[in-house]
Amino acid sequence: MKINGYDIALSEDDLKQKLEKQSITIELISPEFEGYKALSEGDKKALQYLVNAAKILNKVFLCQDHSLNLAQKQALEAAASESEYAALALRFFNSYNGVEGLNGVDKEPIELFKGIKGFKGRNFYPEDMSVEEFHKILLKMFAAGKIDEIRKILSARTMVRRNGNELKAIDYTEFFAPEFSEIANQLELAAHYTDDEPLKDYLGWQAQALLQNNEDMDMLADKHWAVLQDTPLEFTLSRENYEDEMTPTVFDNPELVKLLEQYHIEATSKDMLGIRVGIVNKEGTKLLLKFKEHMRALAELMPFKDKYHQNIGQNSELKQTMVDVDLAALSGDYAAVRGGITTAQNLPNNDKLAVKTGGGRRNVYHRQVRQTIDIEKKRKILANMVSKELHEFYNPEAEHIFVIGHENGHSLGPDSSYQDALGLYKHIIEEHKANTVSITFMPEYVKNHTITTKDLKEVYTTWVVDSLFLTAQPQYAQAHRMADLIEFNYLLENRVISFDKNNKLHINFEDFASVMDKLLAETIAVQLSKSSVKAKEFIDRYTNWSENSAHIASEIQKLGVKPYKEIRTHF
Ligand SMILES: [Zn+2]
Repeated sequence: MKINGYDIALSEDDLKQKLEKQSITIELISPEFEGYKALSEGDKKALQYLVNAAKILNKVFLCQDHSLNLAQKQALEAAASESEYAALALRFFNSYNGVEGLNGVDKEPIELFKGIKGFKGRNFYPEDMSVEEFHKILLKMFAAGKIDEIRKILSARTMVRRNGNELKAIDYTEFFAPEFSEIANQLELAAHYTDDEPLKDYLGWQAQALLQNNEDMDMLADKHWAVLQDTPLEFTLSRENYEDEMTPTVFDNPELVKLLEQYHIEATSKDMLGIRVGIVNKEGTKLLLKFKEHMRALAELMPFKDKYHQNIGQNSELKQTMVDVDLAALSGDYAAVRGGITTAQNLPNNDKLAVKTGGGRRNVYHRQVRQTIDIEKKRKILANMVSKELHEFYNPEAEHIFVIGHENGHSLGPDSSYQDALGLYKHIIEEHKANTVSITFMPEYVKNHTITTKDLKEVYTTWVVDSLFLTAQPQYAQAHRMADLIEFNYLLENRVISFDKNNKLHINFEDFASVMDKLLAETIAVQLSKSSVKAKEFIDRYTNWSENSAHIASEIQKLGVKPYKEIRTHF
């Protein structure tokens, strides 16, 4: 079947299989949700305008991601009413929010149409431009003294197009001017109706930032956003830059690196945009804040604490807000589920001006995402791979407690100058540190009555089963999974976890805390070394793929992997 002249690459049966057998549905909240009914009339209206903004933004994302996304989506929508096949393809398109991408399991991307491939520079750069040509053009432009234009080309907020034999950069606020102005209108309307002053204030700044070609406006909007703690509504315009693989290639070219340094040009990957809308859950947020209260005390317990500057000193204020959110809409980058979907996100990232100039961060936890679990499969994993005496301690909600500890763990320990010094290995070590901080300090939360001793056993057990049981051998690029493997092997080597002759997991709860203490000290020592050689040694030492890991992976794969997600929106 042809859509705009392109054959659908996946058969009807394959699409059915992927959508019905290999997908998980994430139900977002509806107007029936109690938390929605409890909103003031003004906030109810505001929420609808924020959802409108999310819908408009999705068009921007589709364009950033692939030049054919919009046309293919529209053609699928037109064909879907007449053809079941097209309707299935449309559902798949929507779950990916695009024509192609990795699914987190297979090595090659899944492509929805024959002949439509993704590009290294997505649609940020001309599709027919190779890396070599990109570098050649930049060198030529350097020689011609076009420094300002190069600065714009390598900025996070421009679309790059050909201009004769050269390239030109168009700021997002110009390239997407019609959509940005519509979004700004919706934000102004939401600001008008909401009863919450800080939110009103932020939305005003955010609307202005969308209308002006000025990075300072983004900075101001971000700073007003990061302090929101007690607002009833959640709205985030996310700007993260993991998808663009073209911009960072300049660092592989020594000649370009030298010129970039000489002219003080920062090359930053392009921002993919997304919008998240929701309602702040008061109970869930209370729990997060209970954990936050104790972070200063934990900083005092960090290994080698006198050898580096503590981010969280006794006197310095912790510039971190955190909220638990019931989600009403996810669009753009958030809705492009290609493999995984995050359960929490702490923004702005380090590359943003707001953070560089001392602004804080805001961590948002996604309730509907973490509550979507394949309970049937979990039951089978317990039955096949976990000894009976541990079953009572398996509790998916305990995974959330681990994640809170992980997110807070990023704020403890040596700062980003130590992290960055580990080069290629910095992400693995940092994610591993955050996991280790979380688990190591869990007993402290028992002492300060945030959780009970039963909760502690649940966190240990659920963490081992949900996080450390891997589906496949991870690669260096998969920082989180590599971190999980380090911890699995460390616990195994130190006999905190073990497997009996039936390959069933046992946990030695008595030694858990002391072994984790030791691991945390080793991990912090690696960061303090500022040595990428030491980091690699540490990683290689603890990431061997043992028979235990191979057995677990094959058992989980037998139970079926569900790499696809469908998000259902009701606003
Ligand atoms: Zn993390």
